[in-house]
Amino acid sequence: MGMKINRQLIHQKFGGHCAYCGREITIKQMQVDHFWPQFLSHFQPDLDKDREENLMPSCAKCNNHKHGMRPETWRKELELQISRLKKNAQFDRALRFGQLEITERPVVFYFETLERETTSGVAVRNQ
Ligand SMILES: [Zn+2]
Repeated sequence: MGMKINRQLIHQKFGGHCAYCGREITIKQMQVDHFWPQFLSHFQPDLDKDREENLMPSCAKCNNHKHGMRPETWRKELELQISRLKKNAQFDRALRFGQLEITERPVVFYFETLERETTSGVAVRNQ
């Protein structure tokens, strides 16, 4: 049994944006994601999975895909998407005809870009 979740507070955490992809979401569309997945508390009873820092505003697409993954596992999964797409004929054609471009950009979650801005030039993540 956890505390009652304050959806309004979570929705405003990143100004009404999904913490991960950055899409704007309404409070009704918002799903509350556990940054550290819920199952971890079975192994770490001291982990309060419902504490506010662990609750992230998420769009349905991100939340469904992240599911029970740890944040870094999910990031690796997202980074594998391009190599998987290259095996798709339509994707490959769109590349060859210049309709798509692949960037070498790493997967950075929306909330991480905000952290960077608010720490006056000090990179939060150095990877
Ligand atoms: Zn999202």
